[in-house]
Amino acid sequence: MDKIVILGAGLAGISASFHLRHARCVLFEKNHYPGGHIHTEFLDGFTWDEGPHISFTKHQYVRELFEANVDGEYLEYPVETGNYFQGHWIPHPAQSNLHAVPEPLRHRCLQDFLDMRQSAAGSPPETYEDWLKFAFGDTFATTFPSAYTRKYWTTDAENLSTDWVGERMFFPSVEDVTRGAVAPLPQQTHYIKNIRYPARGGYMAYANKLVEAANVEFNHELVHVSFEDRALFFANGSRISFSKLVNTLPLPVLIQLSDAPPDVQAAATRLSCSSLLVVNVAANHPTVRPENWIYVYDEDKYTTRINCTELLSPNNAPEGTTGIQVEVYFSKYKPATESPERIASKVCSELVEMGLIKSPEAIMSVHTKMVPWANVIFDHDRRAALDQVLDWLSQKGLRREDDDLEPITDWERKLADPLGDEHQSVFLAGRYAQWKYYWTDDCVLRGLYLSQTLKG
Ligand SMILES: Cc1cc2nc3c(=O)[nH]c(=O)nc-3n(C[C@H](O)[C@H](O)[C@H](O)COP(=O)(O)OP(=O)(O)OC[C@H]3O[C@@H](n4cnc5c(N)ncnc54)[C@H](O)[C@@H]3O)c2cc1C
Repeated sequence: MDKIVILGAGLAGISASFHLRHARCVLFEKNHYPGGHIHTEFLDGFTWDEGPHISFTKHQYVRELFEANVDGEYLEYPVETGNYFQGHWIPHPAQSNLHAVPEPLRHRCLQDFLDMRQSAAGSPPETYEDWLKFAFGDTFATTFPSAYTRKYWTTDAENLSTDWVGERMFFPSVEDVTRGAVAPLPQQTHYIKNIRYPARGGYMAYANKLVEAANVEFNHELVHVSFEDRALFFANGSRISFSKLVNTLPLPVLIQLSDAPPDVQAAATRLSCSSLLVVNVAANHPTVRPENWIYVYDEDKYTTRINCTELLSPNNAPEGTTGIQVEVYFSKYKPATESPERIASKVCSELVEMGLIKSPEAIMSVHTKMVPWANVIFDHDRRAALDQVLDWLSQKGLRREDDDLEPITDWERKLADPLGDEHQSVFLAGRYAQWKYYWTDDCVLRGLYLSQTLKG
């Protein structure tokens, strides 16, 4: 096939096709709809994204593209985030809001933090656990982010590296923590301040126009790829050949379905990712709390992060109701031991216990969705395993990039110097194909970048 073949019609695939010009591309997608992780469902008047999605991009190009895609109809507001800990509501980030932490825990958190900052010696932290203790002191680290790490990242913080942290974790000043232990700080300290969300249509509204003229072959699930023969085989029996291939499927899936040798297959299985059970609960009363989303630290609760969909846009739920979306994470480190129905039922009880749903009778509906690929886990195996897989792919037509092992991309640098190679025949794009900590803006920019490297 002469066209550029794109595997997967999630945002990275859509963006690649859009920027390369749709007429040059054909996409193969296993679902009967586009969007992948940014797909939005509409049920009984409620709008449900696949887990909470908001745009907080700093990239002007993406901001303008998203704005244009929704004809300027988006909502922009300061984000309100909260923390729930053993019956206490603590503003976010908790480390600079210790005033809301109960005593004697508050005092211990503050004292440990000050002791740690005074000692401030030693080598840079090698594990996320060390980073947390270095940033916050032992008591706070152990009670809050380490516990949350086991729920969200599904493993102990000591099993994680620090290369993904960047500005995603707030590194507080002594002054902020000390003042925040007495009273709320006047200024917001969360790394996401203003967020944008489409006024209607859910998060997918940002991408609908991008996919309009795309050549998408839906219901095409890849079951085998032969890099030797440059051929793709699909579950529906069709076979196509390719000369240029853009893969957006999870890298472990691509390798597992390929003719890679056993050692490369083994490396791909060492790439760890969490899966997500989204529990969507509709209740017959307005939201009880003002926060857009809430982090739950209690390890005896499945509920990990909560968002109220009608606070993202009032059009996401019928008036007078609330759509509560709860995330529950699993992985090879933390396999699920109960059915989705049982977990959903426990989540509903937790929401009632936390006071977010007024009573069990207030629940109008509950439905769940299993998302097999959620967050790349930045454990200590990741870099070496990824390196081995990319090295093998480089013998099949991939060009290694100087930052391809880094979880985060510096787009200013990358877009200023797009490196093309006419012999390159295999390209990777997106969060799971590149095995990175990518947000939606990164997926859009990767498509733009490919259009610059894949000229002609
Ligand atoms: C819970 C959660 C919350 C998030 N919140 C935010 C947020 O607030 N803001 C933000 O900017 N980003 C957020 N993200 C990140 C964002 O969702 C991703 O970066 C982005 O959607 C990834 O797009 P992608 O195209 O790389 O992958 P995907 O969306 O996974 O696309 C891959 C496509 O490949 C298809 N596919 C898979 N296997 C096959 C096969 N065998 N054959 C054919 N097709 C196949 C899939 O169906 C899918 O359509 C969040 C992610 C998660 C999981």
